[in-house]
Amino acid sequence: MFFFILNLGRKGISISSLFSNKWAVKMRNACHLAAYPYLCASFMKPIQQIYPLLTQPRNVVITMHQKPDPDAMGSALGLFHFLVQFDHKVTVISPTNWADFLKWMPGCKDVLDYESQREKADPVLDNADWIFCLDFNALHRTKYMAPKLEHSKAIKILLDHHEEPHTSSFQYGISVIPKSSTAEMIYDFIVESGHADKINLEIAQCLYAGVMSDTGSFRFPVTTPSVHTMVAELKKKGLNHSKVHEEIYDNFLENRLRFMGHVLANRMEVFYEYNTALIAIPKGDIIRFHIKTGDTEGLVNYPLSIKGIKMAALLIDRDEERRWSFRSKDEFDCNSFARTYFEGGGHYNAAGGRSSLSLEENVRQFKEALKDNVLQLQ
Ligand code: MN
Repeated sequence: MFFFILNLGRKGISISSLFSNKWAVKMRNACHLAAYPYLCASFMKPIQQIYPLLTQPRNVVITMHQKPDPDAMGSALGLFHFLVQFDHKVTVISPTNWADFLKWMPGCKDVLDYESQREKADPVLDNADWIFCLDFNALHRTKYMAPKLEHSKAIKILLDHHEEPHTSSFQYGISVIPKSSTAEMIYDFIVESGHADKINLEIAQCLYAGVMSDTGSFRFPVTTPSVHTMVAELKKKGLNHSKVHEEIYDNFLENRLRFMGHVLANRMEVFYEYNTALIAIPKGDIIRFHIKTGDTEGLVNYPLSIKGIKMAALLIDRDEERRWSFRSKDEFDCNSFARTYFEGGGHYNAAGGRSSLSLEENVRQFKEALKDNVLQLQ
């Protein structure tokens, strides 16, 4: 089986088109992770072809998914601090604003917010030779930036670990679904291109934040030996990992903790017959507790700490739409669930979704969807 898949990959056939997600996960467990870099998806040329070009200065833009999390922002800034060492002119552009707990990251104050600084960002995008697209699988994940990226003449380079990448949107790239984080992929990019000596403290801090966050502080099954090897190397660069942890997780205001208490006490419903818990948050709660971007980060993980719970879902009434987050344990496929019922996707054990319907209608649909999935949830 191992060699069969490997050969398909080398012929450039996308694995996601050949196997179901569940299959891919079984394979991932059966095969050694080292096989995956060879599973180059169709359309994109291999990322290795970029390596010899790194020493020729270019105009570079780095972008990531909207509302960047620590992995998206950490990958982008980690790559930024690498590329500037080759005299590239590098600009990081985020599709939207980001949480306050990312603002400590070196270089973060120079990141452009496409939503509020479009006049500044558009000319930079127009002049770009390369656009690195990090931690997302399809251009629509960049919200209002998507049309601009679609029509850009720049070479688009993808580095990502989300399921089912739209590989036809990128000229070069690598998508390695079993990787812990895009931060780990940036680390691999630096090391494999032969420039491990360029990893400095700034890069170490940014990449550590990404891998720590996407592995749930090294707890999720994606935490491979290579993750710990990478962290060991980052420590050798002088990384203070406790400080990074504090900056990300101990940097909220009082209102956020009171909000958490409120929603856990009053907005959580547990469906023991489906081993599932749901937190549905009306807009009034967001307003009452002055909740900002990033304040709901991590909330979806709390119900998973209830004994026996296999899936946790979080539904939030945002201004323009209702947003879903899903987390699971064991063999429940959040990516497929989010894709099937809520216009979303992501990873096997962590995915997101959206809906333009009301909060109540979403809750009703969710309960119906649980009935369809009763066998997988028991
Ligand atoms: Mn990620």
